[in-house]
Amino acid sequence: MTPFRRSSKPSIVYWHGDTLYLNITNRCSNRCYFCFRNFTDGVWGFNLKLTREPSPKELIKDLETYINRRFWREVVFCGFGEPTARLDCLLEVAEWIDRNHMKSIRVDTNGHGYLLNQGRDVVKELKDAGVRKVSVSLNAGDAETYDRVCKPVFRNAFNAVLEFIERAKRELEVEATAVSIPEVDLEKVRALTEKLGVKLRIRNYELPFM
Ligand code: SF4
Repeated sequence: MTPFRRSSKPSIVYWHGDTLYLNITNRCSNRCYFCFRNFTDGVWGFNLKLTREPSPKELIKDLETYINRRFWREVVFCGFGEPTARLDCLLEVAEWIDRNHMKSIRVDTNGHGYLLNQGRDVVKELKDAGVRKVSVSLNAGDAETYDRVCKPVFRNAFNAVLEFIERAKRELEVEATAVSIPEVDLEKVRALTEKLGVKLRIRNYELPFM
């Protein structure tokens, strides 16, 4: 398949290697200074700047176009925003994927799911919809660093991320991620993830090319 060009319309379904990605929102409760959204319109030749949020029906229609085009190892909710900011949309689309295609489903999240969806049992709802794995952007070994680099709109967001990880690891496969930037002590992050009992994936800070 030929990737869309930079000038093409915004993509809600995009891909890289054997992974299919879903860009369901551009809203996020963090303002990370290193966020790709600050520097580019998209990744890997796809424009991820949405002009409006797609409905679940539109996402499923687009998925129907691409999901059988080749073998996708995994379908990942990950775009220029926080997927759990649209929890109901995420759940509806995940259920459709799980029911019709039995693909491995992952959600890449900032871990604010419980702050964004008060009163909901986010992890259980994700699991019930067919999500098997979450990749949580931890990005710091302490709250002060987190607030400085991620600039969350919520107070106490760092503790909420830790709580999300604690809850998620009981139900799902969990990995925490951290971006390699000078402000973050990666050894401190590693010690924290060891204490939490989850894997850590460190991401080099480089822009995927358009
Ligand atoms: S959590 Fe992710 S999408 Fe949100 S601002 Fe940070 S890097 Fe960007």
